[in-house]
Amino acid sequence: MTQSLDILAIAAHRDDVEQTCGGTLLAHAARGLRCGILDLSRGELGTRGTAADRARESGAAARILQVAWRAALDIPDGRVENTFDNRLKIARVLRATRPRVVILPYWQGRHPDHYTSSQLGYEACFAAGLKKLAIGAAAASELEITVNELSEVGPRPPSAGPRRNAADDDRRPATDDPHRPYKILYASLYADVRPTFVIDITSHFEARTQALFAYKSQYRDQSEGAGLFPAHAEIRTRLEAMAGFYGLLAGVRYAEPFVQKEVGLVDDVMAIPVASI
Ligand SMILES: [Zn+2]
Repeated sequence: MTQSLDILAIAAHRDDVEQTCGGTLLAHAARGLRCGILDLSRGELGTRGTAADRARESGAAARILQVAWRAALDIPDGRVENTFDNRLKIARVLRATRPRVVILPYWQGRHPDHYTSSQLGYEACFAAGLKKLAIGAAAASELEITVNELSEVGPRPPSAGPRRNAADDDRRPATDDPHRPYKILYASLYADVRPTFVIDITSHFEARTQALFAYKSQYRDQSEGAGLFPAHAEIRTRLEAMAGFYGLLAGVRYAEPFVQKEVGLVDDVMAIPVASI
């Protein structure tokens, strides 16, 4: 049986998803849904650590977040551009993993890689659904997979080329059937905008914090010589403040915010959550 993802979170850098929607992935994994993460770049420009360090750390973080699949594309770090080639790279992943929901970064922000990823991701979702657009399978060098618990990702097309070995086949996206996600959500934690809704992450806050701390090369030495604990304490305070603020908006302890462009649809006004007064 073909296994596909329910939710795929796409972001520019390894550790972006941990910061903006890690708790949401955990909350849905706890409901038995299959979540995945696609990082567009690999972190080769990072001041701290190497791309190899970050690959290892992103795998460890993914396991804490209980995702079924995580990979990084080979888009240059610090140079995420909305090009046709980059749209095709993401579209190949979308066709292979076939998520119903895609989470993208909010479309405004300080870092060009972040806001560019938003539009790039949206346009890739569009391209992935074009029936006559043949985009083939990802080359092995294009996609670095750090977690793969999907036994099979999509049907294999006859033109997939020579098989190298069974392990390669398991790890390589291999479908060219069109797929367009049903829902696109924008993770807006760092954007100064009012969210459309928030997700209660109260019972997942601790694990989500640990997922971020799994990036030891990034978060171990925040204060030179001050050791591990003070840096962690400061980051934790910030995470608590952000999640606490969004939780307060909806009457829960900790939450993550999202924006959707569509209007909401309600069946039953008696069941709408969050008290008005
Ligand atoms: Zn980032």
